[in-house]
Amino acid sequence: MLSMNKNRLFNLTRLRLTGYYVGVMGLILSLCGAAFYSMMAEAHWHALHRELESVAGTLHDGLEPNLKQPGTINPSVQKIIPELCLAGVTCVANETQTHRHVLGAVQQEGYYARFLTQSGQVVATVGQQPDQLPFVGGDELWQTLTDRQGRRYHHISLLLKTSGRQPWGYLQVGRSLQSFDEHLATTRLLLLLGLPVTMLLVTGASWWLAGLAMRPVYQSYRQIQQFTGDAAHELRTPLAATKATIESALEADPLTAAEARSTLQTIERQNNRLIQLVQDLLLLSRMDLQMLPLKSQTVKLNALISDIVDEFEALAIASGLQLETEIGIQQPVVLVGDEEQLYRLIANLVTNAIQYTPKGGLIVIRLSTTQEYAIIQVQDTGIGIPEAEQTQIFDRFYRVNSDRSRHTGGAGLGLAIAQAITQAHRGSLRVQSTLNQGSTFTLALPLTRSVAFYGN
Ligand code: ADP
Repeated sequence: MLSMNKNRLFNLTRLRLTGYYVGVMGLILSLCGAAFYSMMAEAHWHALHRELESVAGTLHDGLEPNLKQPGTINPSVQKIIPELCLAGVTCVANETQTHRHVLGAVQQEGYYARFLTQSGQVVATVGQQPDQLPFVGGDELWQTLTDRQGRRYHHISLLLKTSGRQPWGYLQVGRSLQSFDEHLATTRLLLLLGLPVTMLLVTGASWWLAGLAMRPVYQSYRQIQQFTGDAAHELRTPLAATKATIESALEADPLTAAEARSTLQTIERQNNRLIQLVQDLLLLSRMDLQMLPLKSQTVKLNALISDIVDEFEALAIASGLQLETEIGIQQPVVLVGDEEQLYRLIANLVTNAIQYTPKGGLIVIRLSTTQEYAIIQVQDTGIGIPEAEQTQIFDRFYRVNSDRSRHTGGAGLGLAIAQAITQAHRGSLRVQSTLNQGSTFTLALPLTRSVAFYGN
């Protein structure tokens, strides 16, 4: 079978499908990445706020009762925060005096706290002081500021009151956003670099998946192509024969009555062949489309088989064959189905047995039952079917060694029709065959109501 990659239409469709997959996946992944990024940034920001809030809250509550004069740090405040560095005084960091439980995060690198008067003058600081951080109106609770070096800081700004409930100034607890920004930048970079790599993988997977999804479609497309080719070929043979016959009759001058009769007989024969072929094709396509209304009749299989034997006996004798029946059951076997189609099904098997059994052979038609099925076997002592082709013979137009069977006139539709009728009756049709010894076709039909579609 031709590879799908060599078919332009399928290749284009596969490419297009891959494109759609990649586009949709790209969009979904980008949205997921963006959502992940913003959720992560939000979570970090939230954690940062909580941390600063808790330190600022503790300081605020601890300090307010000790604040007396607005904008002035009392010694009692310095007691609470010994590492407090007053404005204008050079401070030396003293690691041993740290009061971690009061200052918490402010002890860490990058954190700071500062006290400002209401007009924005720095009174005292703790922790790493940002370089010349400007003062922003104290009313805003959260402030993000940038120092001269372009580093960002974020702090909470609380208004402190003296013990006499007078506004004292501001307490600001904040931290550098450097690590926060770096972390987000790394995540952004990873996401941006990861996306093309992921898209590359998605493209490969999509191409493979598109191929996988299209394989069955391609197979049926090939089958239809094959079928059309085979049908055209089968139709061409009788048409060409008719044409040749007519041409030679037209050339004969004068055309005798006997010649005219013989010509017409040939044309009639070819015409019958065409009619048969077209009827068979029509039957198959109607069955495919489930448009053939099968009848739901009570069919007596014993009577059906004896009718078939009656019909084919003469042909069997003429072919030098013996035709026998073996009924392995006393009572009549009755099932529900379409009598005409079942007749056609068994007749096709018997015709084949006669066609493919050389002179002196034996054909046996058996009827038996199991609990659920009526079993009909058509056994011959004919040429047999090679094992490798035993499944293909049920395909439309398939013939084992078509050159040999050409003279039999069969188009290779007999078993395809038999199979379609069997399936419509929810039965099964199998073959067992040994080359040069014979074949046995076994048909099993359910004894209970069996017509699969359009029965009534
Ligand atoms: P055809 O019109 O050629 O008989 P079928 O569909 O009935 O088409 O059968 C398909 C092919 O299967 C035949 O061409 C023949 O090669 C093989 N075949 C079918 N029945 C038999 C049989 N009883 N013995 C040997 N070969 C058979």
